[in-house]
Amino acid sequence: MATPPLVKKKETKQPSGSPVGLLQGWKDRLPMDVAYWDFLTDRVERLARDYGFLHLETPILEDARLFTILKEKDVEADQLITFQDAEGPVLALRPDNTLPLARAYREHGFANLPQPVKIYYLGPQFRREKISSGRLRQFTQFGLEVFGDPSPVVDAQLIAATFFLLQDIGVDIRLHLNSLGHEECREKYEKMLVEYYRTRRSVLCDDCKARLNKQPLRLLVCEVPGCREVSQEAPPIVDHLCEADRAHFVQVLEHLDEVEVAYELDPRLIRDKAYYNRTVVEFHAPTADGRTIALAGGGRYDGLVAAVGGEPTPAFGLALGLERVILAMKEQGVQPPSLTPPDVYLAQIGDEARKKSLRLFLDMRHEGIRVAESLSKEGIKAQLESATKSRSRFALILGQKEIIDGTILLRDMENGIQEVIDFQKIIPEVKKRLHKIAVNGTPPLPPPPPTPEPTTFHRHTHG
Ligand code: AMP
Repeated sequence: MATPPLVKKKETKQPSGSPVGLLQGWKDRLPMDVAYWDFLTDRVERLARDYGFLHLETPILEDARLFTILKEKDVEADQLITFQDAEGPVLALRPDNTLPLARAYREHGFANLPQPVKIYYLGPQFRREKISSGRLRQFTQFGLEVFGDPSPVVDAQLIAATFFLLQDIGVDIRLHLNSLGHEECREKYEKMLVEYYRTRRSVLCDDCKARLNKQPLRLLVCEVPGCREVSQEAPPIVDHLCEADRAHFVQVLEHLDEVEVAYELDPRLIRDKAYYNRTVVEFHAPTADGRTIALAGGGRYDGLVAAVGGEPTPAFGLALGLERVILAMKEQGVQPPSLTPPDVYLAQIGDEARKKSLRLFLDMRHEGIRVAESLSKEGIKAQLESATKSRSRFALILGQKEIIDGTILLRDMENGIQEVIDFQKIIPEVKKRLHKIAVNGTPPLPPPPPTPEPTTFHRHTHG
C-alpha cells in the first residue's frame, strides 16, 4: 500500500529555539468547554441507551488496509494518517468508525445474533485535513449504526432520533436528504452525468475537467461558480432510480413525514465516501457569517460488511461531530445547562481552620456531600464570592473563633442566614438539611435569624 506522506514539513516547522507547541490542526480540549462536553456526552449516551444500542469501541489504530479496501473511489485514502510500525503492517489512525465497526461485526460473529444489531460509539477520529480548511485533524464522533436490517424504517428512525436530539439541544438545523440508489443505478446515473457535463465542458474548472470521467458525482459539489451553475441544472439522481430504490426512498420520506421531521431533498448531497448506497443524509447548521457547517452525516451502506470479508449485511449509520455541535451551540448562543452545583462550599480563615477544613472536606465527600473548597485562598470575601459563583446551596465558614468554640458557621446561600453549629454535628446537620430540600424543595424562611456576629470576618485582616 502506498503510504501517504506524513505531515508536510512546512506545516510543522518551528523556528529553532522556540518552545514546542501544539501541532497545527490539532486542539486541546479546555476546561471552559467542559460544561458543553458533559452536557453533550450525557445527551447522546442517554439517547443511545434509550434506543437500545450496544456500546462498542474499536481501537484508535487499525491495519491501514482496512481503510483502503474501497481504494478505487475512496477519497479518504489521502486523508489517512499512517505509520510504518516497527513490528509489522502500516497502521492508520481511524478516520471514522464505520469501517472498524463493519470489521468488528464480522470478526465477532455478530451476524449470528438476532438481527438487527444496533451499536453506538463515541470517540476520536483522525483525518489529515487541509490546515487552512479550519477542520480538525482529531475530532470526536458519536455514531449510531444498525446492522442487518434493510427496511426504510431503520433509516427514518435514526434520522429522526438525530433530528430530535439536535432540536432538543436547541440548535437550528437543516436536514438534507438524497438517495444514491444501488450500484447499478448509480453507474447508469454517472454515465448520464458524464454526458451532461461533457457538453458543458468548456465552462468547467480544471479539477472538474480532470474528474469528469473518474468521479463524475464529485462535479455536483464543486463550489467554483461556473461549475456550480452547471450543476444546478444537472439531472437529479432521484429521478433516475430503479423502482426498488425509489420505493425505498419514498418510504423513508413517508416515515419522516409521519413523525413531522422537516427535510430538504438535496440532489447535490452525494457524501464523500464510496460505500454509501440508497439513503444519504446530512444535518447542517447556519453560522454567523452566513455559511453552513455539517454537524452530522451518514447513510446506508449495504455492501460494506461484505467488502470487509463478512456476509452481505444491510446497514445504516449516522455520525455526529461533537466539536461541530459545540461550535453551532456557541454561534447560536445555546448555553449548556450548568453543571450540578456543589451542596456545600467550605470557607476557612487561618492555619488551624485550614488544617481542620482539609479533614472536614474529606469526611463530607466520604458521606456523599458534594463539596467545593478553596483551601489555598485566605480572604473570606473572595471565598464567599467563589461560594456564590459556585451556586452551592450552603457555605460552611470556619474561623479562629469557631476553632476555639468548637463550632462552625452554616450559611444558607439562598437567604443569607447564618447559624452556629456544633462542629461535631455539622455533617449530620448538613445531610438533614439537604435531605429536607430534596424531599420538600427549598423550605420557607425560618423565624428571625440567630445571626451571629460576623466577628470572624472582621477579625480577619490579611488576604
Ligand atoms: P463524516 O464522517 O465525514 O460524514 O462526518 C460526520 C460529521 O463529523 C460531520 O458532519 C462533522 O460534524 C464531523 N467532522 C467530520 N470531519 C471533521 C473534521 N475534520 N473536524 C471536525 N469535525 C469533523
